[in-house]
Amino acid sequence: MNVEKIRADFPILSTTVYGKPLIYLDNGATTQKPKCVVEEIEKIYYTTNANVHRGVHHLSQVATDLAEESRIVVQQFINAEHSKEIIFTKGTTESINLVAHSFCQQFCSEGDEIIISAMEHHANIVSWQLQETIRGIKLRVIPINDKGELMLDEMKKLITPRTRLISVMHVSNVLGTINPIEEIVSIAHSHDIPVLIDAAQSVQHIEIDVQKLDCDFLVFSGHKLYGPNGVGVLYGKEKWLNQMPPYQGGGEMISQVSFKKTTFNDLPFKFEAGTPNYPDVIALAKAIDYIKSIGLDSIKAYEDQLLKYCTDELTKINNIRIFGTSDNKCSVVSFLVGNIHHYDMGMLLDKMGIAVRTGHHCAQPLMEELGIEGTVRASFAFYNTKEEIDKFIEGVKRVVTMFE
Ligand code: PLP
Repeated sequence: MNVEKIRADFPILSTTVYGKPLIYLDNGATTQKPKCVVEEIEKIYYTTNANVHRGVHHLSQVATDLAEESRIVVQQFINAEHSKEIIFTKGTTESINLVAHSFCQQFCSEGDEIIISAMEHHANIVSWQLQETIRGIKLRVIPINDKGELMLDEMKKLITPRTRLISVMHVSNVLGTINPIEEIVSIAHSHDIPVLIDAAQSVQHIEIDVQKLDCDFLVFSGHKLYGPNGVGVLYGKEKWLNQMPPYQGGGEMISQVSFKKTTFNDLPFKFEAGTPNYPDVIALAKAIDYIKSIGLDSIKAYEDQLLKYCTDELTKINNIRIFGTSDNKCSVVSFLVGNIHHYDMGMLLDKMGIAVRTGHHCAQPLMEELGIEGTVRASFAFYNTKEEIDKFIEGVKRVVTMFE
């Protein structure tokens, strides 16, 4: 890992905030973009902009080819069997909503159950709660232990003949826990239950092979993967996607429209109604190529060092509470010190040029479980450095001194 060289690819990392060099530790919320991604977006608008899948003219065909090549880049990135199993969406949230809506419409009736976990992001809670209201399904919740790990024995007890799907996050955006998704898939499949994996916080850190994992759905966002905002991915096994009804109606998702009867397009277009966000779809491929050029194995190994170093240093601070102490963690550390409010800590760090996340992190049920309102969260990327962590720790200590 040549971090200095990598940092030069991210111009924002050499900017200042309140006259201090920016230290960006809010990568769990969104990642910064390398030049190649931003340049690709500019290039598309300046040279290739045309609506995709519609025109016979040259530009439309070039744009269509690039967007479809991007689908193949995503397919290869997660090793999906077919490119038609890759659906482009706005992001993780829309991907989960799509599955919740279409899967429940096809496969769930009143009283059927969906299992999620106590550590889920609101996207993987509320999407299902909407289906509770619409279809009368019921949510069952896997509890967590004191270290912030899923209790799989409890999960097994939640499985009933009415369980239709298990939907869990791979990596917790608050606790950093890496959940044992292989085991979850294996348990679920032994009961013929499909599994959705929310990979919003994992796909940028951990290599994922959906065929090996054998998950039924996997979702993630481009903007957390060093790619553009407004584009995300839903991977779904063909056998499920083929049976599920469309999520939205409009152009391109149809085969034939008449006032008597409308028929729908094949995969993946059945789930991509309207003009897609093709410039960002195309630029997402650049982000994936960029990550691949560094290598996810190297990324994970380097980020693990940062996480360990930061956790060790934080642990030395008096009255600190770290939320999420599993041995199997990834790139996120959440904490509180004494009675210092997380907003105060975040605001004061900000004045030192240090960007961290504060609040409930869109995981209010988890906060309730932990008996707190929110945490301070530092989340790392491969462009962060040990020196930045030193400044962050120094910053936290300064805030603690101010409150003493
Ligand atoms: N799931 C997890 C685990 C997340 O961390 C996030 C965002 O922080 C989401 C879902 C929602 O992602 P998006 O807002 O990009 O749709």
